[in-house]
Amino acid sequence: MTAKVIDGKAFAAEVRTKVASHVTRLKEENGITPGLAVVLVGEDPASQVYVRSKGKQTVEVGMNSYEHKLDVDTSEADLLALIDRLNKDATVHGILVQLPLPKHLDSDLVINSIDPAKDVDGFHISNVGLLGTGQKSMVPCTPLGCLMMLRDHHGSLAGMDAVVLGRSNIVGKPMAQLLLGDSCTVTIAHSRTKDIADVCRRADIVVAAVGRPEMVPGDWIKPGATVIDVGINRIERDGKTVLVGDVDYASAAAVAGAITPVPGGVGPMTIACLLANTLTACCRANGLAEPE
Ligand code: NDP
Repeated sequence: MTAKVIDGKAFAAEVRTKVASHVTRLKEENGITPGLAVVLVGEDPASQVYVRSKGKQTVEVGMNSYEHKLDVDTSEADLLALIDRLNKDATVHGILVQLPLPKHLDSDLVINSIDPAKDVDGFHISNVGLLGTGQKSMVPCTPLGCLMMLRDHHGSLAGMDAVVLGRSNIVGKPMAQLLLGDSCTVTIAHSRTKDIADVCRRADIVVAAVGRPEMVPGDWIKPGATVIDVGINRIERDGKTVLVGDVDYASAAAVAGAITPVPGGVGPMTIACLLANTLTACCRANGLAEPE
């Protein structure tokens, strides 16, 4: 069997086109332009790439992008003061603080200082609680993108066995909540899980978010299963730096029913969902119907 490749790049382009047409309508009919503020502290190279890409795509869908680049030694008080200003700024509908933050800053404190209604990353404790209790919230972008691809591929996910590899607050846990919300039977595996290969082999859906290059080989995958590879790992191969996922693509694609590639799978969907969340936040802030 050769797996169907789930094209996250093409799907993300469709999402962005829909967002852009909503933005046009918001401008024409309501005179409102959604705005996304991205805060970057320090000069982490990967974070700089992500922030640049987010800013570019925000502008491309017709939204306002506000980038705040702060020195690596910015104090917590100064960062909190900036977030307070952005919380109060009516032209800013979404606020994203790029993680990881430098070690002297308390990430939980910083994230929880964002107005939950503007927390387009969905990491604020209020949004985490709302998601966990099945209420309307801001949903973290990466797991949301994964769910959209799964729904698009399968239609209903009800009754499927899903295994999420990884239990981080930004990917693994919210992914598991979303799959549960769609009536999957969900197992979360992590570094202390026993017989992880056997756990994985039971899954109709595997979402890999461990940050270990090519950790999941094809013989962990049930024939016909759907594999969503969240991992983004830079490794040296044949003298070059290449990007690989958490799944060994070649062997997994030989047994899976469908699989996301790296790059071109989950990554583009994450930014598309960030734009969709910003649009949603803008509509909610203005008492307008939310886009589907
Ligand atoms: P974290 O490092 O926060 O979490 C990794 C998780 O994987 C932990 O729960 C850890 O378990 C588990 N884990 C690590 N090693 C093993 C192992 N050998 N066996 C089983 N479980 C293991 O990572 P993130 O969740 O932030 O990110 C995961 C991956 O996804 C990374 O490659 C990251 O780059 C990528 N990513 C991609 C995004 C995208 O847009 N495509 C967005 C965000 C992340 P334990 O808790 O026990 O330590």
